Amino acid sequence: MYYLSTRDASLRKTAAEVIVQGLSRDGGLFTPVEFPKLPEGMLEELISADYRQRAKRIMKLYLEDFTEEELADFAAKAYGDQFDTRAVAPVYHLTEGTEVLELWHGPTCAFKDMALQMLPYLLTASLRKTGEEKTACILVATSGDTGKAALEGFCDVDHTKILVFYPKDGVSDIQKLQMVTQKGDNVGVCAVIGNFDDAQTGVKKIFSDVEIRKTLEERGLFLSSANSINWGRILPQVVYYISAYCDLCRDGRIKLGDPVNFCVPTGNFGNILAGYFAKLMGLPVKTLICASNANNVLTDFLKDGVYDRNREFYTTSSPSMDILISSNLERLLYLLSGSDEEVRGYMDCLSKSGRYEVSGELKARIHEVFAAGWCSDEAAGEAIAKLFGTEGYLMDTHTAVAYTVLENYRKETGDDTTTVVVSTASPYKFCSSVLSAMGVTELRPGTEILSQLEEKTRTTAPAPLKGLAGREVRFTGQTEKENMPQVVLDMLS
Ligand SMILES: *Cc1c(COP(=O)(O)O)cnc(C)c1O
Repeated sequence: MYYLSTRDASLRKTAAEVIVQGLSRDGGLFTPVEFPKLPEGMLEELISADYRQRAKRIMKLYLEDFTEEELADFAAKAYGDQFDTRAVAPVYHLTEGTEVLELWHGPTCAFKDMALQMLPYLLTASLRKTGEEKTACILVATSGDTGKAALEGFCDVDHTKILVFYPKDGVSDIQKLQMVTQKGDNVGVCAVIGNFDDAQTGVKKIFSDVEIRKTLEERGLFLSSANSINWGRILPQVVYYISAYCDLCRDGRIKLGDPVNFCVPTGNFGNILAGYFAKLMGLPVKTLICASNANNVLTDFLKDGVYDRNREFYTTSSPSMDILISSNLERLLYLLSGSDEEVRGYMDCLSKSGRYEVSGELKARIHEVFAAGWCSDEAAGEAIAKLFGTEGYLMDTHTAVAYTVLENYRKETGDDTTTVVVSTASPYKFCSSVLSAMGVTELRPGTEILSQLEEKTRTTAPAPLKGLAGREVRFTGQTEKENMPQVVLDMLS
Protein backbone atom coordinates (compact mmCIF):
# COMPACT_ATOMS: atom_id res chain seq x y z
CA MET A 1 0.00 0.00 0.00
CA TYR A 2 1.31 3.40 -0.97
CA TYR A 3 0.85 6.98 0.13
CA LEU A 4 0.50 10.07 -2.02
CA SER A 5 0.72 13.76 -1.18
CA THR A 6 -2.46 15.84 -1.09
CA ARG A 7 -0.59 18.30 -3.33
CA ASP A 8 0.97 15.71 -5.65
CA ALA A 9 -1.16 12.66 -6.27
CA SER A 10 1.47 11.04 -8.48
CA LEU A 11 3.81 10.55 -5.52
CA ARG A 12 4.20 7.00 -4.19
CA LYS A 13 5.79 6.41 -0.79
CA THR A 14 5.76 3.50 1.62
CA ALA A 15 4.31 3.76 5.11
CA ALA A 16 7.81 3.73 6.64
CA GLU A 17 8.91 6.57 4.36
CA VAL A 18 5.95 8.78 5.16
CA ILE A 19 6.25 8.18 8.89
CA VAL A 20 9.93 9.20 8.80
CA GLN A 21 9.31 12.23 6.62
CA GLY A 22 6.17 13.58 8.32
CA LEU A 23 5.21 16.30 5.85
CA SER A 24 5.61 16.00 2.08
CA ARG A 25 8.24 18.29 0.49
CA ASP A 26 5.52 20.00 -1.54
CA GLY A 27 3.81 21.03 1.69
CA GLY A 28 1.07 18.44 1.28
CA LEU A 29 0.01 15.74 3.71
CA PHE A 30 0.61 12.05 3.11
CA THR A 31 -2.58 10.10 2.54
CA PRO A 32 -3.20 6.48 1.57
CA VAL A 33 -3.68 6.00 -2.17
CA GLU A 34 -6.64 3.77 -1.33
CA PHE A 35 -8.36 2.83 1.89
CA PRO A 36 -8.33 -0.82 2.84
CA LYS A 37 -11.79 -2.23 3.54
CA LEU A 38 -12.34 -4.11 6.78
CA PRO A 39 -12.17 -7.70 5.54
CA GLU A 40 -15.37 -9.76 5.73
CA GLY A 41 -15.89 -11.02 9.28
CA MET A 42 -13.17 -8.90 10.84
CA LEU A 43 -15.45 -6.62 12.86
CA GLU A 44 -17.14 -9.66 14.33
CA GLU A 45 -13.80 -11.14 15.31
CA LEU A 46 -12.66 -7.89 16.87
CA ILE A 47 -15.68 -7.77 19.15
CA SER A 48 -14.12 -10.40 21.39
CA ALA A 49 -10.55 -9.06 21.01
CA ASP A 50 -8.84 -6.69 23.42
CA TYR A 51 -7.59 -3.23 22.48
CA ARG A 52 -4.09 -4.34 21.62
CA GLN A 53 -5.26 -7.06 19.29
CA ARG A 54 -7.64 -4.63 17.66
CA ALA A 55 -4.79 -2.15 17.19
CA LYS A 56 -2.53 -4.77 15.64
CA ARG A 57 -5.14 -6.07 13.21
CA ILE A 58 -6.36 -2.66 12.09
CA MET A 59 -2.94 -1.05 11.72
CA LYS A 60 -1.66 -4.03 9.77
CA LEU A 61 -4.16 -3.22 7.01
CA TYR A 62 -2.24 0.02 6.40
CA LEU A 63 1.30 -1.01 7.28
CA GLU A 64 2.23 -3.65 4.78
CA ASP A 65 5.93 -3.08 5.36
CA PHE A 66 5.55 -4.05 9.04
CA THR A 67 5.12 -7.61 10.30
CA GLU A 68 2.30 -8.86 12.53
CA GLU A 69 4.85 -9.67 15.22
CA GLU A 70 6.26 -6.15 15.14
CA LEU A 71 2.83 -4.59 15.43
CA ALA A 72 1.77 -6.94 18.23
CA ASP A 73 4.92 -5.98 20.11
CA PHE A 74 4.31 -2.25 19.56
CA ALA A 75 0.68 -2.52 20.65
CA ALA A 76 1.64 -4.39 23.81
CA LYS A 77 4.20 -1.70 24.72
CA ALA A 78 2.19 1.32 23.61
CA TYR A 79 -1.04 0.23 25.33
CA GLY A 80 0.41 -1.39 28.44
CA ASP A 81 0.42 -0.56 32.12
CA GLN A 82 0.91 3.15 31.53
CA PHE A 83 -2.85 3.15 30.89
CA ASP A 84 -4.90 3.05 34.06
CA THR A 85 -7.39 0.58 32.58
CA ARG A 86 -6.78 -2.57 30.59
CA ALA A 87 -9.61 -1.51 28.32
CA VAL A 88 -7.28 1.34 27.19
CA ALA A 89 -10.12 3.27 25.52
CA PRO A 90 -13.30 2.29 27.39
CA VAL A 91 -16.79 3.33 26.34
CA TYR A 92 -18.90 4.71 29.18
CA HIS A 93 -22.65 4.27 28.87
CA LEU A 94 -23.96 7.70 29.76
CA THR A 95 -27.66 7.56 28.90
CA GLU A 96 -29.85 5.69 26.43
CA GLY A 97 -28.33 6.34 23.00
CA THR A 98 -25.43 8.42 24.28
CA GLU A 99 -22.05 6.81 24.88
CA VAL A 100 -18.75 8.37 25.88
CA LEU A 101 -15.48 7.10 24.43
CA GLU A 102 -12.86 7.91 27.07
CA LEU A 103 -9.51 8.50 25.44
CA TRP A 104 -7.67 9.90 28.42
CA HIS A 105 -6.60 6.89 30.44
CA GLY A 106 -2.99 7.15 29.26
CA PRO A 107 0.08 8.66 30.96
CA THR A 108 -0.68 12.33 30.15
CA CYS A 109 -4.46 12.11 30.60
CA ALA A 110 -5.44 13.35 27.13
CA PHE A 111 -6.34 11.56 23.92
CA LYS A 112 -3.00 12.43 22.32
CA ASP A 113 -1.53 9.47 24.22
CA MET A 114 -3.53 7.11 22.02
CA ALA A 115 -1.31 8.05 19.08
CA LEU A 116 1.83 9.31 20.78
CA GLN A 117 2.43 6.20 22.83
CA MET A 118 2.46 4.31 19.51
CA LEU A 119 4.28 6.78 17.24
CA PRO A 120 7.81 6.32 18.70
CA TYR A 121 7.66 2.59 17.91
CA LEU A 122 6.38 3.25 14.40
CA LEU A 123 9.01 5.91 13.86
CA THR A 124 12.06 4.03 15.17
CA ALA A 125 11.03 0.94 13.18
CA SER A 126 10.52 3.14 10.11
CA LEU A 127 14.02 4.62 10.56
CA ARG A 128 15.43 1.08 10.49
CA LYS A 129 13.34 0.06 7.49
CA THR A 130 14.36 3.07 5.44
CA GLY A 131 18.04 2.79 6.42
CA GLU A 132 17.98 6.28 7.93
CA GLU A 133 20.96 6.63 10.27
CA LYS A 134 20.60 10.25 11.30
CA THR A 135 18.89 11.14 14.57
CA ALA A 136 15.27 12.22 14.19
CA CYS A 137 14.52 15.57 15.82
CA ILE A 138 10.84 15.77 16.58
CA LEU A 139 9.68 19.35 16.43
CA VAL A 140 6.28 19.97 17.99
CA ALA A 141 3.97 22.95 18.20
CA THR A 142 1.39 22.27 20.86
CA SER A 143 -1.86 23.77 22.00
CA GLY A 144 -1.19 21.97 25.27
CA ASP A 145 -1.79 18.26 25.14
CA THR A 146 0.30 17.15 22.17
CA GLY A 147 3.47 18.57 23.69
CA LYS A 148 3.32 16.58 26.88
CA ALA A 149 2.12 13.43 25.15
CA ALA A 150 4.97 13.65 22.62
CA LEU A 151 7.54 14.32 25.36
CA GLU A 152 6.28 11.32 27.28
CA GLY A 153 6.24 9.11 24.19
CA PHE A 154 9.71 10.04 22.95
CA CYS A 155 11.46 10.50 26.31
CA ASP A 156 14.84 8.71 26.08
CA VAL A 157 13.90 6.87 22.87
CA ASP A 158 17.12 6.05 20.98
CA HIS A 159 17.90 7.97 17.79
CA THR A 160 15.40 10.68 18.62
CA LYS A 161 15.38 14.13 20.15
CA ILE A 162 12.28 16.13 20.87
CA LEU A 163 11.69 19.85 21.11
CA VAL A 164 8.32 21.31 22.06
CA PHE A 165 7.03 24.87 21.57
CA TYR A 166 3.89 25.91 23.44
CA PRO A 167 2.02 29.25 23.45
CA LYS A 168 3.03 31.06 26.62
CA ASP A 169 -0.45 32.06 27.70
CA GLY A 170 -2.44 29.46 25.82
CA VAL A 171 -2.19 26.38 28.03
CA SER A 172 -3.57 25.48 31.46
CA ASP A 173 -1.34 25.58 34.56
CA ILE A 174 -1.43 21.81 34.84
CA GLN A 175 -0.56 21.40 31.16
CA LYS A 176 2.37 23.77 31.50
CA LEU A 177 3.63 22.04 34.62
CA GLN A 178 3.41 18.69 32.88
CA MET A 179 5.72 19.95 30.14
CA VAL A 180 8.27 22.03 32.03
CA THR A 181 8.91 19.19 34.49
CA GLN A 182 9.47 16.59 31.77
CA LYS A 183 12.30 14.16 32.44
CA GLY A 184 14.68 12.73 29.84
CA ASP A 185 18.03 13.56 28.24
CA ASN A 186 16.71 14.05 24.71
CA VAL A 187 13.93 16.56 25.46
CA GLY A 188 13.54 20.35 25.26
CA VAL A 189 10.61 22.68 25.97
CA CYS A 190 10.22 26.39 25.14
CA ALA A 191 7.37 28.90 25.50
CA VAL A 192 6.46 31.06 22.49
CA ILE A 193 5.19 34.58 23.06
CA GLY A 194 2.01 34.30 21.00
CA ASN A 195 -0.86 31.89 20.42
CA PHE A 196 -0.94 28.32 19.10
CA ASP A 197 -1.13 29.40 15.47
CA ASP A 198 2.05 31.47 15.98
CA ALA A 199 3.82 28.41 17.38
CA GLN A 200 2.51 26.15 14.62
CA THR A 201 3.37 28.61 11.85
CA GLY A 202 6.85 28.99 13.35
CA VAL A 203 7.41 25.25 13.35
CA LYS A 204 6.14 24.92 9.77
CA LYS A 205 8.57 27.64 8.67
CA ILE A 206 11.46 25.81 10.29
CA PHE A 207 10.49 22.64 8.45
CA SER A 208 10.65 24.42 5.11
CA ASP A 209 13.88 26.31 5.91
CA VAL A 210 16.59 24.86 3.66
CA GLU A 211 19.45 26.47 5.62
CA ILE A 212 18.36 24.95 8.91
CA ARG A 213 17.94 21.55 7.30
CA LYS A 214 21.47 21.75 5.94
CA THR A 215 22.99 22.81 9.25
CA LEU A 216 21.21 20.01 11.09
CA GLU A 217 22.22 17.49 8.47
CA GLU A 218 25.86 18.39 9.06
CA ARG A 219 25.25 17.61 12.72
CA GLY A 220 23.78 14.19 11.87
CA LEU A 221 20.22 15.28 12.55
CA PHE A 222 17.03 15.64 10.56
CA LEU A 223 13.66 17.16 11.39
CA SER A 224 10.57 15.06 11.85
CA SER A 225 7.09 15.80 13.10
CA ALA A 226 4.83 14.37 15.76
CA ASN A 227 2.00 16.78 14.99
CA SER A 228 -1.14 15.27 13.58
CA ILE A 229 0.09 16.02 10.07
CA ASN A 230 2.20 12.85 10.51
CA TRP A 231 0.45 9.74 9.23
CA GLY A 232 1.85 7.84 12.21
CA ARG A 233 -0.32 10.05 14.42
CA ILE A 234 -3.55 9.54 12.50
CA LEU A 235 -3.40 5.79 12.01
CA PRO A 236 -3.45 4.75 15.70
CA GLN A 237 -6.51 6.98 16.08
CA VAL A 238 -8.48 5.02 13.51
CA VAL A 239 -8.28 2.08 15.90
CA TYR A 240 -10.40 3.54 18.69
CA TYR A 241 -13.33 4.37 16.44
CA ILE A 242 -13.51 0.74 15.41
CA SER A 243 -12.81 -0.39 18.96
CA ALA A 244 -15.66 1.73 20.33
CA TYR A 245 -18.03 0.25 17.77
CA CYS A 246 -16.96 -3.27 18.79
CA ASP A 247 -17.50 -2.45 22.46
CA LEU A 248 -21.02 -1.22 21.74
CA CYS A 249 -21.77 -4.51 19.95
CA ARG A 250 -20.19 -6.53 22.73
CA ASP A 251 -22.22 -4.73 25.40
CA GLY A 252 -25.47 -5.10 23.48
CA ARG A 253 -25.95 -1.35 22.95
CA ILE A 254 -26.16 -1.86 19.17
CA LYS A 255 -26.29 -4.80 16.78
CA LEU A 256 -23.44 -5.44 14.37
CA GLY A 257 -24.19 -3.38 11.27
CA ASP A 258 -26.24 -0.68 13.05
CA PRO A 259 -25.14 2.87 12.21
CA VAL A 260 -23.66 5.13 14.88
CA ASN A 261 -22.67 8.80 14.97
CA PHE A 262 -19.54 10.18 16.56
CA CYS A 263 -19.39 13.68 17.99
CA VAL A 264 -15.81 14.90 18.19
CA PRO A 265 -14.33 17.98 19.89
CA THR A 266 -12.16 19.28 17.10
CA GLY A 267 -9.10 21.48 16.69
CA ASN A 268 -6.63 20.42 14.03
CA PHE A 269 -9.18 18.02 12.51
CA GLY A 270 -6.93 15.01 13.19
CA ASN A 271 -9.18 13.11 15.54
CA ILE A 272 -12.38 13.43 13.53
CA LEU A 273 -10.50 12.67 10.32
CA ALA A 274 -9.48 9.31 11.79
CA GLY A 275 -13.21 8.68 12.31
CA TYR A 276 -13.79 9.47 8.65
CA PHE A 277 -11.07 6.99 7.70
CA ALA A 278 -12.80 4.33 9.81
CA LYS A 279 -15.97 5.08 7.86
CA LEU A 280 -14.09 4.75 4.55
CA MET A 281 -12.93 1.32 5.74
CA GLY A 282 -16.54 0.26 6.06
CA LEU A 283 -17.33 0.96 9.73
CA PRO A 284 -21.07 1.76 9.90
CA VAL A 285 -20.70 5.45 10.76
CA LYS A 286 -23.61 7.66 9.77
CA THR A 287 -22.70 11.20 10.71
CA LEU A 288 -19.53 12.70 12.09
CA ILE A 289 -20.40 15.74 14.17
CA CYS A 290 -17.61 18.26 14.38
CA ALA A 291 -17.75 20.24 17.63
CA SER A 292 -15.91 23.53 18.05
CA ASN A 293 -15.62 26.23 20.70
CA ALA A 294 -15.82 29.97 19.96
CA ASN A 295 -12.99 29.49 17.44
CA ASN A 296 -15.66 28.17 15.12
CA VAL A 297 -13.90 28.37 11.77
CA LEU A 298 -14.70 24.69 11.11
CA THR A 299 -18.38 25.08 11.93
CA ASP A 300 -18.69 27.77 9.30
CA PHE A 301 -16.64 25.80 6.82
CA LEU A 302 -18.53 22.55 7.17
CA LYS A 303 -21.84 24.39 6.91
CA ASP A 304 -21.13 26.97 4.20
CA GLY A 305 -18.05 25.66 2.39
CA VAL A 306 -16.12 28.86 3.16
CA TYR A 307 -12.96 28.59 5.21
CA ASP A 308 -12.03 31.97 6.56
CA ARG A 309 -9.40 32.33 9.21
CA ASN A 310 -9.62 36.12 9.17
CA ARG A 311 -11.48 36.39 12.42
CA GLU A 312 -10.86 37.10 16.03
CA PHE A 313 -8.92 34.47 17.94
CA TYR A 314 -10.41 33.53 21.30
CA THR A 315 -8.66 31.99 24.27
CA THR A 316 -11.26 29.62 25.65
CA SER A 317 -11.68 27.10 28.45
CA SER A 318 -11.07 24.34 25.88
CA PRO A 319 -7.58 25.52 24.83
CA SER A 320 -6.67 22.40 22.86
CA MET A 321 -9.28 23.48 20.34
CA ASP A 322 -8.18 27.12 20.10
CA ILE A 323 -7.07 26.78 16.51
CA LEU A 324 -7.85 28.76 13.38
CA ILE A 325 -5.87 26.70 10.87
CA SER A 326 -6.91 23.08 10.96
CA SER A 327 -4.11 21.41 9.02
CA ASN A 328 -5.72 18.02 8.61
CA LEU A 329 -8.67 19.42 6.73
CA GLU A 330 -6.41 19.26 3.69
CA ARG A 331 -6.63 15.47 3.74
CA LEU A 332 -10.42 15.62 3.69
CA LEU A 333 -10.37 18.11 0.81
CA TYR A 334 -8.19 15.77 -1.18
CA LEU A 335 -10.26 12.69 -0.47
CA LEU A 336 -13.54 14.39 -1.29
CA SER A 337 -12.31 16.16 -4.43
CA GLY A 338 -9.85 13.53 -5.64
CA SER A 339 -7.81 16.35 -7.12
CA ASP A 340 -4.39 17.53 -5.98
CA GLU A 341 -4.77 20.51 -8.29
CA GLU A 342 -7.95 21.59 -6.54
CA VAL A 343 -6.28 21.20 -3.13
CA ARG A 344 -3.27 23.24 -4.25
CA GLY A 345 -5.64 25.97 -5.33
CA TYR A 346 -7.43 26.10 -1.99
CA MET A 347 -4.20 26.02 0.00
CA ASP A 348 -2.75 28.73 -2.17
CA CYS A 349 -5.75 30.94 -1.43
CA LEU A 350 -5.45 30.12 2.26
CA SER A 351 -1.84 31.18 2.48
CA LYS A 352 -2.41 34.33 0.38
CA SER A 353 -5.70 35.61 1.77
CA GLY A 354 -6.48 33.33 4.72
CA ARG A 355 -9.66 32.24 2.97
CA TYR A 356 -10.99 29.81 0.40
CA GLU A 357 -14.34 28.57 -0.80
CA VAL A 358 -14.82 25.02 -1.99
CA SER A 359 -16.83 23.98 -5.03
CA GLY A 360 -20.54 23.28 -4.70
CA GLU A 361 -19.90 19.64 -5.44
CA LEU A 362 -17.37 19.32 -2.66
CA LYS A 363 -19.67 21.09 -0.25
CA ALA A 364 -22.45 18.61 -1.04
CA ARG A 365 -20.09 15.71 -0.34
CA ILE A 366 -19.14 17.23 2.99
CA HIS A 367 -22.78 17.46 3.97
CA GLU A 368 -23.33 13.77 3.27
CA VAL A 369 -21.02 12.86 6.13
CA PHE A 370 -20.37 15.82 8.40
CA ALA A 371 -22.46 17.97 10.66
CA ALA A 372 -21.01 20.81 12.70
CA GLY A 373 -21.73 23.07 15.61
CA TRP A 374 -20.04 25.16 18.23
CA CYS A 375 -20.72 26.32 21.75
CA SER A 376 -19.59 29.00 24.16
CA ASP A 377 -17.51 28.44 27.30
CA GLU A 378 -20.58 29.28 29.29
CA ALA A 379 -22.73 26.60 27.65
CA ALA A 380 -19.96 24.01 28.02
CA GLY A 381 -19.63 24.90 31.70
CA GLU A 382 -23.36 24.50 32.22
CA ALA A 383 -23.18 21.06 30.63
CA ILE A 384 -20.41 20.01 33.02
CA ALA A 385 -22.44 21.05 36.06
CA LYS A 386 -25.68 19.62 34.72
CA LEU A 387 -24.30 16.22 33.78
CA PHE A 388 -22.47 15.86 37.04
CA GLY A 389 -25.68 16.71 38.85
CA THR A 390 -27.97 14.39 36.91
CA GLU A 391 -25.71 11.47 35.97
CA GLY A 392 -22.79 11.84 38.37
CA TYR A 393 -20.50 11.94 35.35
CA LEU A 394 -17.63 14.42 35.33
CA MET A 395 -16.47 15.74 31.94
CA ASP A 396 -13.63 18.01 30.95
CA THR A 397 -14.26 21.23 29.03
CA HIS A 398 -13.46 19.79 25.58
CA THR A 399 -15.80 16.86 26.06
CA ALA A 400 -18.42 19.30 27.32
CA VAL A 401 -18.20 21.22 24.05
CA ALA A 402 -18.91 18.00 22.16
CA TYR A 403 -21.75 17.04 24.49
CA THR A 404 -23.39 20.45 24.12
CA VAL A 405 -23.01 20.47 20.35
CA LEU A 406 -24.57 17.01 20.24
CA GLU A 407 -27.58 18.17 22.23
CA ASN A 408 -28.08 21.09 19.86
CA TYR A 409 -27.62 18.83 16.84
CA ARG A 410 -30.29 16.48 18.11
CA LYS A 411 -32.71 19.34 18.69
CA GLU A 412 -32.10 20.71 15.21
CA THR A 413 -32.21 17.44 13.30
CA GLY A 414 -34.20 14.97 15.39
CA ASP A 415 -31.50 12.42 14.59
CA ASP A 416 -31.74 9.77 17.32
CA THR A 417 -28.96 7.47 16.09
CA THR A 418 -26.81 6.09 18.90
CA THR A 419 -24.01 8.61 19.25
CA VAL A 420 -20.57 8.29 20.75
CA VAL A 421 -19.24 11.48 22.31
CA VAL A 422 -15.48 11.37 22.00
CA SER A 423 -14.00 12.41 25.33
CA THR A 424 -10.53 13.82 24.82
CA ALA A 425 -9.19 14.80 28.23
CA SER A 426 -9.47 14.01 31.91
CA PRO A 427 -11.39 16.71 33.78
CA TYR A 428 -8.37 16.90 36.08
CA LYS A 429 -6.33 18.44 33.28
CA PHE A 430 -8.62 21.47 33.33
CA CYS A 431 -9.42 21.73 37.02
CA SER A 432 -9.95 25.46 37.26
CA SER A 433 -12.47 25.59 34.40
CA VAL A 434 -14.26 22.50 35.69
CA LEU A 435 -14.44 23.84 39.24
CA SER A 436 -15.60 27.25 38.04
CA ALA A 437 -18.32 25.54 36.01
CA MET A 438 -19.50 23.93 39.24
CA GLY A 439 -19.75 27.30 40.90
CA VAL A 440 -16.51 27.26 42.89
CA THR A 441 -15.02 30.75 43.00
CA GLU A 442 -11.99 30.35 45.25
CA LEU A 443 -9.50 28.13 43.55
CA ARG A 444 -6.50 26.62 45.29
CA PRO A 445 -3.07 27.40 43.83
CA GLY A 446 -0.86 25.07 41.79
CA THR A 447 -1.39 21.35 42.06
CA GLU A 448 -3.52 21.76 45.19
CA ILE A 449 -6.39 22.35 42.83
CA LEU A 450 -6.37 18.61 42.05
CA SER A 451 -7.41 17.73 45.58
CA GLN A 452 -9.95 20.53 45.50
CA LEU A 453 -11.67 18.88 42.52
CA GLU A 454 -11.38 15.49 44.21
CA GLU A 455 -13.13 16.77 47.32
CA LYS A 456 -15.78 18.63 45.37
CA THR A 457 -16.72 15.66 43.17
CA ARG A 458 -15.58 12.64 45.21
CA THR A 459 -13.71 11.36 42.21
CA THR A 460 -10.00 10.55 42.08
CA ALA A 461 -7.35 12.50 40.19
CA PRO A 462 -5.21 10.42 37.82
CA ALA A 463 -1.91 9.34 39.37
CA PRO A 464 0.35 11.05 36.78
CA LEU A 465 -1.21 14.43 37.61
CA LYS A 466 -1.01 13.93 41.35
CA GLY A 467 2.66 13.10 40.87
CA LEU A 468 3.34 16.60 39.48
CA ALA A 469 3.35 18.17 42.94
CA GLY A 470 6.87 19.08 43.95
CA ARG A 471 8.51 18.04 40.69
CA GLU A 472 11.50 20.07 39.57
CA VAL A 473 10.89 22.66 36.84
CA ARG A 474 13.51 22.02 34.18
CA PHE A 475 12.50 24.37 31.37
CA THR A 476 11.92 28.09 31.87
CA GLY A 477 12.90 29.45 28.41
CA GLN A 478 10.66 31.60 26.24
CA THR A 479 11.07 33.13 22.79
CA GLU A 480 9.55 35.58 20.33
CA LYS A 481 8.13 33.64 17.41
CA GLU A 482 10.73 35.18 15.06
CA ASN A 483 13.52 33.58 17.10
CA MET A 484 12.22 30.04 17.02
CA PRO A 485 14.79 28.91 14.41
CA GLN A 486 17.62 30.07 16.66
CA VAL A 487 16.14 28.20 19.62
CA VAL A 488 16.07 25.04 17.52
CA LEU A 489 19.68 25.44 16.45
CA ASP A 490 20.79 26.15 20.02
CA MET A 491 18.96 23.24 21.52
CA LEU A 492 20.09 20.84 18.84
CA SER A 493 23.76 21.82 19.01
C1 LIG B 1 -5.83 17.89 20.63
C2 LIG B 1 -7.10 17.95 21.37
C3 LIG B 1 -8.31 18.17 20.71
C4 LIG B 1 -8.39 18.44 19.23
O1 LIG B 1 -8.04 17.32 18.47
P1 LIG B 1 -7.69 17.49 16.93
O2 LIG B 1 -7.17 16.17 16.48
O3 LIG B 1 -6.64 18.56 16.86
O4 LIG B 1 -8.93 17.89 16.24
C5 LIG B 1 -9.47 18.14 21.47
N1 LIG B 1 -9.44 17.94 22.80
C6 LIG B 1 -8.28 17.74 23.46
C7 LIG B 1 -8.32 17.56 24.94
C8 LIG B 1 -7.08 17.72 22.77
O5 LIG B 1 -5.94 17.52 23.43
